[in-house]
Amino acid sequence: MSRDPRFDVLFQPLKIGPVTAKNRFYQVPHCTGMGWQRPNMLAEMRGIKAEGGWGVVNTEYCSIHPSSDDLLCPYASLWDESDIRAHRLMTDKVHEHGALAGVELWYSGAPASNLYTREVPFDVNSKPNWKGFPYQSRKMDKQDFRDLRQWYRDAALRAKDAGFDIVYAYANHDDLLHNFQRSGTNDRNDGYGGNVQNRSRLLRETIEVLKEAVGETMAVAVRFSPDDDRMKNNKPVTEETREFFMQVAELPDLWDVTAASWDIELGTSRFVNEGGNEPYMSYVKEMTTKPVVAVGRFTSPDTMVNQIKRGVVDMIGAARPSIADPFLPKKVEEGRYEDIRECIGCNICYTGDQLGVPIRCTQNPTMGEEWRRGWHPERVPEKKSESSVLVVGAGPAGLEATHALGKRGYNVMLSEARKELGGRVAQESRLPTLSEWIRVKDYREEQFLKLPNVDVFLDSYLSAEDALLAEADHIVIATGAKWRADGFGRTNTINIENLGPSGQIFTPDDIMVGRLPKGRVVVFDDDYYYMGPVIAEMLQKAGCQVTFVSTTNMACSFGIYTTEQPTAQRSLIKAGIKMVFSQNIDSYDGENIALSCMYTEQPSVIQADAIVMVTARLPTDELYYQLQELVESGKGGATKSIRRIGDCEAPAPIASAVYAGRKYALDLEDDSGINYSLRRDINFTNIV
Ligand code: ADP
Ligand code: SF4
Repeated sequence: MSRDPRFDVLFQPLKIGPVTAKNRFYQVPHCTGMGWQRPNMLAEMRGIKAEGGWGVVNTEYCSIHPSSDDLLCPYASLWDESDIRAHRLMTDKVHEHGALAGVELWYSGAPASNLYTREVPFDVNSKPNWKGFPYQSRKMDKQDFRDLRQWYRDAALRAKDAGFDIVYAYANHDDLLHNFQRSGTNDRNDGYGGNVQNRSRLLRETIEVLKEAVGETMAVAVRFSPDDDRMKNNKPVTEETREFFMQVAELPDLWDVTAASWDIELGTSRFVNEGGNEPYMSYVKEMTTKPVVAVGRFTSPDTMVNQIKRGVVDMIGAARPSIADPFLPKKVEEGRYEDIRECIGCNICYTGDQLGVPIRCTQNPTMGEEWRRGWHPERVPEKKSESSVLVVGAGPAGLEATHALGKRGYNVMLSEARKELGGRVAQESRLPTLSEWIRVKDYREEQFLKLPNVDVFLDSYLSAEDALLAEADHIVIATGAKWRADGFGRTNTINIENLGPSGQIFTPDDIMVGRLPKGRVVVFDDDYYYMGPVIAEMLQKAGCQVTFVSTTNMACSFGIYTTEQPTAQRSLIKAGIKMVFSQNIDSYDGENIALSCMYTEQPSVIQADAIVMVTARLPTDELYYQLQELVESGKGGATKSIRRIGDCEAPAPIASAVYAGRKYALDLEDDSGINYSLRRDINFTNIV
């Protein structure tokens, strides 16, 4: 199939200063949890993006000097010769596929942790580290300005040596250049503070330094936030930034613009839709003749074309869509639109960076595993035998196992008790704000439909005896998990005694099938992720008087790593939900809930007509144990192996179930060893 001509505009080359991008698909800088520590993993992953058709492939934020250090969050660096060699791995792979390679030069300032290098960062003034570490930056003096220029110049020259085509000045996200830009953060009274000419001086100088150093052969890009990070009458305020932009609009070769708020730029699909950045940047194209790129979690080629045709952007920026589907451009080019694996906006990808471990993705289980496991997002190794496989359960784990086994060529039978595919994603996606979760099912279902060697049986609950009747060589149990009603969780390591009556205790599974409580409802959250807040808001909107009680001290605390925590808590506040933190439930008599303080055990009581327990899930693993018993006692017929995967093995986010499905499928009958062990990556600096 070839592409529809209406998408031709996406494949027109575009000149960016002295270089030319082959098409309009632009992988913007995005963090990976790899950075300077894991160059081989990075290079392989970025190379696959280029193979998948992205015209430009960028690094993550790349430090120009050790005083800009963000560990625990892994960042790239261009400090020395070893970094040049490490980046060469990436640029070579990117160039192999005709794409441009870009590097986002970054000097942090006050946000830097410098926990690794122990250098003192400098900034506009001496201010506290905004991540909460008990350190302050120092105020920049004249020597610091001279040093900064030198560091940018040196890093740009190293970038050139490393083979990059585009070099960035990173000027947003509360880092140094952004802090000089804004009157709300720049309180200097020298030539770098005060009026807009002075506030724009540092950015102008930085662009000049980059241009002088490498501008003849490399494009100079700026990452910029075009709004003032405030809303008025539900509209972004842009006046001050617009005035600033006028000073610099024609200086770089490309503008990469994103809303000032991470909550918008990197908003989860719970709160931000495709194209959510647009209202924040509407004036940018009018004020510059230079190419403009912006993200918007774009997965629909129609929306992409629309963005370009309406003159909002010249290139389609993508981080998450390129993570979920590194081959998105190729699929559009080849007219394979239904094969696009659409990002679901869960931000599990961002947790890698925040937790200091390699990136992962819910939709793309190969993300981050390209080098160390040799996984490819589009290609799987061929089957090793004529074996057949029975997959029990069609949640994300069973679906992905079926998909990857089917593509390997195995004969697969997928048996699902319900009348629909999807397991937890089908159920959760019916909850408010989680509708995009269904894409996990949609993509995989679409893929099986094409495979003659995959048979799907819905409405087919299997007992152990039924499973053996299928006479499959291998059986994989992906039967998921159920939410617990007994209060067991991370705080209550045995169930809560005196909890009743059971008709007044609910779980998320009840809510998802429409069994809803009434009246005064306590949502008890010992889970710390999205489920508690989603249900609390849903019930409040349905007319209940909801109190959100949690054993921790904020709502959705895991959301700190996905960026959604502040938005989730704001949303609960706006919904009028009462929140009670750091309290555990001791007992419930159908009217009074006895609480105890997590710090002091001080007792208190609140009244409720019902409790929704969001604490932990119990693996649905009876079938696995029964089958194991049969196989081990010689009654398993021809069964060669039996495994459990996904939530049935160990409940976890959807990403883990998808990953488990892929891993099972690729490990099956594979004796090459590569799928069983992890290759460990190492930076060249460690090699003497
Ligand atoms: P995971 O996230 O691990 O994929 P889910 O809970 O999403 O798990 O999905 C498990 C699926 O398994 C559900 O759709 C459920 O209906 C199905 N299932 C559970 N037990 C059986 C069984 N004995 N036979 C067939 N299907 C089952
Ligand atoms: Fe999208 Fe979630 Fe994958 Fe990130 S982890 S790219 S948000 S599907």
